[in-house]
Amino acid sequence: MEKITIAIDGYAGCGKSTTAKGVAKELGYIYIDTGAMYRAVSLYFTQKRIDFYQDTDVLLNAVKEIQIDFVRDPQTGENLTRLNGQVVESEIRKPQISNIVSLVSIHASVREAMVAQQRQMGHAKGVVLDGRDIGTVVFPDAELKVFMTAEMEVRAGRRLAELQQKGVATTLEEVIENLKERDRIDTTRKIAPLKQAADSIVLDTTDLVIDQQIALVSQWAKQRMHNFQQNEHRN
Ligand code: C5P
Repeated sequence: MEKITIAIDGYAGCGKSTTAKGVAKELGYIYIDTGAMYRAVSLYFTQKRIDFYQDTDVLLNAVKEIQIDFVRDPQTGENLTRLNGQVVESEIRKPQISNIVSLVSIHASVREAMVAQQRQMGHAKGVVLDGRDIGTVVFPDAELKVFMTAEMEVRAGRRLAELQQKGVATTLEEVIENLKERDRIDTTRKIAPLKQAADSIVLDTTDLVIDQQIALVSQWAKQRMHNFQQNEHRN
């Protein structure tokens, strides 16, 4: 069957990554966590003490030094994010990074570098990408676009449980504050703001469990693959 590109965008903490990962596994596709890439850039700037509040030449030159890729953990099978060859998976999930990542993601120099790497990784199709601008900017021709949303209480509760499981000390109030602030910055920034692509399907996960989300998106993907294949044969 022909391979397609699946773009999953939406608000922070709606379960995009878990859904995208599950769909990729179900279809035998590659999963690209674009949020992890912006988080890795944020970690790099922090480590190098680079001022990321303004988009300067320093920032432009710094992003040229950044290469991000993903490897599979041989024990758990999980995707691990690497920053210049170093696994940074746990560091990039910490609140210190969550609190700055949306500010780092505002800048043109950062976005151009990351979008170029994402297009390179996804050029051969057979990919599921999750983020904020995948269906609108990175792959506007993606065959399946999903826009995920959920009620804030549900999103924050799930994120808190996830962080607590990883041993990160935080509170429900802090999580809500962070999700709201990131959504505010992500939806109002000038370049590639988070918005629903006109041709996307809305998936509200408030009352869904993860297996239902994965099943729904996989089913939509199989339908699109089928349509795509029929169109290819017709042309
Ligand atoms: O997906 P995740 O919540 O880990 O993303 C972290 C942040 O990275 C987002 O809040 C947003 O500021 C930024 N981001 C982005 N564009 C993407 C993916 C993430 O600006 N495609």
